[in-house]
Amino acid sequence: RVLEELQSVEITRNPTRAVPIGSIVVGDHNPIAVQSMTATKTQDVAATVELINLLQDAGADVVRVAVDSKKDAQALAEIRKQTSANLSVDLQENYRLAEVVAPHVDKIRYNPGHLYHHEQSKPWQDKVRYLVEVATAHDCAMRVGVNCGSVDPAMAEKYDRDDSISPMLESALDHCELLDDLGFTRYVVSLKDSDPKKVVEVNTRFANERPDVPLHLGVTEAGMPPDGIIKTRIAMEQLVARGIGDTIRVSLTVPNAEKPKEIAAGREILADIAAGRVRSVVDYGLSTLNIISCPSCSRVENEAFVELAQQVQQMTQYAKEHALTIAVMGCRVNGPGETDDADLGLWCGPNYVNLKRGGEALGAFPYDEILGKLKSELDAMIAQRAGS
Ligand code: SF4
Repeated sequence: RVLEELQSVEITRNPTRAVPIGSIVVGDHNPIAVQSMTATKTQDVAATVELINLLQDAGADVVRVAVDSKKDAQALAEIRKQTSANLSVDLQENYRLAEVVAPHVDKIRYNPGHLYHHEQSKPWQDKVRYLVEVATAHDCAMRVGVNCGSVDPAMAEKYDRDDSISPMLESALDHCELLDDLGFTRYVVSLKDSDPKKVVEVNTRFANERPDVPLHLGVTEAGMPPDGIIKTRIAMEQLVARGIGDTIRVSLTVPNAEKPKEIAAGREILADIAAGRVRSVVDYGLSTLNIISCPSCSRVENEAFVELAQQVQQMTQYAKEHALTIAVMGCRVNGPGETDDADLGLWCGPNYVNLKRGGEALGAFPYDEILGKLKSELDAMIAQRAGS
C-alpha cells in the first residue's frame, strides 16, 4: 500500500530556503543537487583535481574534499586554481582550519559531534559563532552534518543507548536554532545513518520540525554496489517522494576511477522517483547478511581498502542467509566508532586491519591474514547462534 501511495504521489517539495553554493542554488524548489566526495589524498593535488574533474564531467553539482591538516588546506588552495567545480570542504575534527580553507571553497561542512575535539573548554556555541564569521567573510554556505557514528557525546548521554535518533535530531535542531539566532540562514542539514530506515525516520522527523531548512540526504557507509545503491534508493524513495530533500549523495565503496558511479546512481534514483518508478521493498530489514563499508576519503590508511571490502563481500557470500552485520571502514579515526553497532567490525591501519566482535577488540592482523581470521569469527558466530 505504501508503495502504491509513493507511486501515485504528485511530489510537492517542502518550501525550503534558497542556499547558494557556488554556481548552483540548493533548496527553494531548485533541482535536487547530486554530490560526491574525493577519496584521494588531498595533498596529492594532481590526483585530487583529476578526480574532481571526473566527477564534474559525470554531472556532480558539488564535490566535497576533506582536510585534516594545514598541508591539506594549502593543497586545497592549489586545487581551487585548477578546477571550476563547486567545492565543499569537510573540516573533519579540526574546525579551526575553516579560516584557512574558506577562501578556496563554496561550502563548509562541519559535524556537531566533532566540535569538541579541539579546545574542549570552549562552548560549542562559540565555535559555531566562529564558523559563521568565517563563512560570512568568505561567501560560503554551510552544512551541519550530523552522523550516527559521531554524535555529540553530551547529546548522546541524554538519551537511552537504544535511541540513536533523538540525539541526532536534537543536535541538528540546536545548531539550526543557533545559526538562525546568529542571522546565518545559508545552511543545509544532513542526518545520516547506515540503516535506511533510520535515515527515513530521522529526516522525516527533522522535516516536520523544520520544513524550511534544506536537507542533504544520504545513507552513510552504504557499501558496495549494488547493495549500497539499493539501500540509498530505499531511503531516497521514501523521503524525496514525500517532498523531503534538496541535495543527495550516494556513498559507494568503489575505486576512485569508478566514483562517477555515485553521480550516475543518484541521478537515476531521482529520475525514477520523478517518473513514479518507485521500487522500494518498504520493509527492508536486516534479515540477511548486511555489509556496510565507508566510501573512503582522503583519510583512508591503505589503498588496499576498497579491495579488502570487496573481498569481505565475496568471502562472506556463503553466510548471506544469516542476519548479521559486518562493517568495513577505511581508517583508525572513525573506524572504531563506526563499527560499534556491527556484529563484526574491521577498520584499516597502514599495515594491519583491526578486528572486533561486538564491542570486544580481537586485535590487529596483517592484510593477508585478516580474511581467514574474519572467517573463523563468522563461523563461530553462526555456530553459536545455531546452538542457542
Ligand atoms: Fe574516510 Fe575513515 Fe570515514 Fe572511511 S571511515 S570515509 S576513511 S573518515
